[in-house]
Amino acid sequence: MARFGWVRRIGAAGLALMVLAGCGGNPAETAPPSDSTTAQAVQPSQSRAMLPMENRSFAGFNISGRIPCTSADGFYVCAGSVSFYDVPSGKYTALCAQVGCAHNDTSCRAYFGNVTSVIEYRGKLYGLENREGSGAAFLEKDLSTGEIRQLRQWTNEENRFVQITFPLFEGGRCILRESWTTRSIEDGQVLEQTEAKVYLMDLATGETRFLFDDNGEKEQTVLAMKGDKLLLRSYRHDPNSANANDRVDSLLELWDLDTGGRAVVADQAGGLKLTADPNAVYGYKVVYQVGDSVYVYDLESETAGKELTLPNIVNYWIQDDHVFAITKDENNHYDVYYQAAGSGELVHMENGGLTSGMMFSILEETQSCFIGKWEGNSGDFIIQKDDFYAERYDRAQRI
Ligand SMILES: [Zn+2]
Repeated sequence: MARFGWVRRIGAAGLALMVLAGCGGNPAETAPPSDSTTAQAVQPSQSRAMLPMENRSFAGFNISGRIPCTSADGFYVCAGSVSFYDVPSGKYTALCAQVGCAHNDTSCRAYFGNVTSVIEYRGKLYGLENREGSGAAFLEKDLSTGEIRQLRQWTNEENRFVQITFPLFEGGRCILRESWTTRSIEDGQVLEQTEAKVYLMDLATGETRFLFDDNGEKEQTVLAMKGDKLLLRSYRHDPNSANANDRVDSLLELWDLDTGGRAVVADQAGGLKLTADPNAVYGYKVVYQVGDSVYVYDLESETAGKELTLPNIVNYWIQDDHVFAITKDENNHYDVYYQAAGSGELVHMENGGLTSGMMFSILEETQSCFIGKWEGNSGDFIIQKDDFYAERYDRAQRI
């Protein structure tokens, strides 16, 4: 519990931990109970829109190992085989209906092997299979047929090891980051050198297009994309600070792959403060801060709008099409705010009187619910979004 906690939505160090916890692929934490029923189901609200289907990102949507679903109100859990948690019924169901099946080989429709970093996109699950010491494979599982397809594989070479991530899915493509570490021994010392390249990969054809080198000095990430337009985030760690989240040369740019042109959306000289929160993107909307204001950049219209202005923002993010911000005052008290994107109606949460963090720290969302940590309680909870916004935390159910 101490690993997670409310700190996720406050401290950047907490955020880093959360993300690592998710990426490490620890299925035990979210494995469904063997009995297919959980505690009382929350009553889903019918009025909520489906989750955005584009710009799906592992880091932003799958922090605790649950894999949010964009076509139904629930999430997948993948621990060797795939189960679906259906919010309206509050039940986990294996994707395989064969009586007595152990769900542990390819004859089972639910089987998805030893994959990590799983994400749902356009009716399929994508995952990375780590082949102990020998390399990795990028797999696609069709949720309607159960069929598994290998999109790509990498084999380690002698003293050369691969590390793969696929941070973002949009337009039938994904961003693929391929990093190779070469190990050598000089004068009895082990030296490592890493070279990373970032590609755009077409999921249907497997074709890749080289985008850029990603080597040390400058961090560069494709935050979101729409067709040939890529929103790039880049920065350098401040060489004069020990805090990994102190950044210099922060920059948001819109890169047109067609023309090669790059247009600055916001930069450090103009007051850009990048968020360390994994939820910076919601469909085609991206949040960023300039000075004391948080903006939403809309990739569909290629325009930005100011959402809210608050002093001393320490974290901000976007979920459920709402912009969230946490501020910290001179007494180290935190305040939590949200605003439905584009509504102009800023809400200051009562937060149950808590000033040390967020009463309900959201990790993930389904169509109608948030899943997260409830201050003072161990484990994860699910709460209807309507109850969350109305601050009826006592309606949260352990999940
Ligand atoms: Zn099975």
